[in-house]
Amino acid sequence: CGIVGYVGQRPAELVVIEGLRRLEYRGYDSAGIALVDEGALVTRKKAGKLANLEKVVDDDPLPPSTIGIGHTRWATHGAPNDVNAHPHVGATGRVAMVHNGIIENFDDLRARLEDDGHQLVSETDTEVVAHLLELQVASGVDLTTAMQRVCSRLEGAFTLVAVDAQDPTAVVAARRNSPLVVGLGEGENFLGSDVAAFIEHTREALELDQDQVVTITADGVAVSGFDGTPAQGRPYHVDWDLSA
Ligand code: GLU
Repeated sequence: CGIVGYVGQRPAELVVIEGLRRLEYRGYDSAGIALVDEGALVTRKKAGKLANLEKVVDDDPLPPSTIGIGHTRWATHGAPNDVNAHPHVGATGRVAMVHNGIIENFDDLRARLEDDGHQLVSETDTEVVAHLLELQVASGVDLTTAMQRVCSRLEGAFTLVAVDAQDPTAVVAARRNSPLVVGLGEGENFLGSDVAAFIEHTREALELDQDQVVTITADGVAVSGFDGTPAQGRPYHVDWDLSA
């Protein structure tokens, strides 16, 4: 699938949808976007190609937010419909998250959430993780710590990218055996499942190791292990010829 995350100065809607367009070859069962606006999430998602999402956004415009995430899905768990489209949100609609890959132990996690009264609306392996992240931030930790704690409980291969409605400054991502690259801008930063997601905006990228969490803000990037240990990414320059 395709994943994009953005925080900076520009309209996130434009950066995210343009990034998804460049990644669309990775899957087109559905597409979706979530922005943070005035303490709330604004989410749009639609089955089918990216053009279907663009139509939804045309009919129901998004606010001028400068932080957001997006996804084009290649379904593994659950039919390619609107409900299973990413982003998925937790029980109170505070955390939105997109996912590439498979959470192998989602059945077990889902059963425990349902025992605790959570109602999950999709058939995906993804939605459980949005609920778990939201429980963590509700307990008072920031989204970075929430991501570290939740990833430690997950099995499988995944790239996760999330935003917290109550923190309009940061997009937090994690990876295990699944692609994730950071794009380094000036006063803005990017996340992508592939550099194609942000190549039009920056050629400076940061490669991460497996089992790492990365938090991007407009002015900074922080990397850590799932256990919270600070880490460094590896900077590199992308020298693709876009005219080719
Ligand atoms: N396993 C998730 C789903 O089926 C993510 C699929 C993907 O990588 O797009 O929704």
